[in-house]
Amino acid sequence: MHCPFCGAADTRVVDSRLAEDGTQVRRRRECPTCGERFTTFERAELVLPRVVKRDGTREPFNEDKLRSGLLRALEKRPVGAEAVEAAVSRILRRIRATGDREVATGRIGEWVMDELRELDQVAYVRFASVYRSFQDVNAFREEVERLQEAAAPTPAGTRRQLSLLPGGTADEEAS
Ligand SMILES: [Zn+2]
Repeated sequence: MHCPFCGAADTRVVDSRLAEDGTQVRRRRECPTCGERFTTFERAELVLPRVVKRDGTREPFNEDKLRSGLLRALEKRPVGAEAVEAAVSRILRRIRATGDREVATGRIGEWVMDELRELDQVAYVRFASVYRSFQDVNAFREEVERLQEAAAPTPAGTRRQLSLLPGGTADEEAS
């Protein structure tokens, strides 16, 4: 493939290994012309169902959109890129597993919330507050309380995260 730095017609593979549980091949490439190195990922392209939005319109599924939604919720949170990619992979698997030609945006949102709940509770509340567009502060508080109850038997880490929640998160993010 062409070099993205200098445009040279040919680059060579210097390393090749499996990534993401063997669903991807990660290659390191080197350009013999300018010497730059870069990484490519190869994966099977399987047809994903189309997404049905709330207003009934349809659009092709967009993995980048899914990823940026997760990353937005995880902004400034201590979650690594690999954990995010693993979450994206799991969501893609669930979408494919439906076997349907179309999937409602609401179902994808629920799966995103499932992943965020495991990854980072603050990110989860951020996403959920926008996604479910909590009607008022009480609905938001109920969700946080529900999380706190769910987190109660687990070590202090989860509760510490919740206590770090800034007061006005829901309102700011929703506007
Ligand atoms: Zn080059």
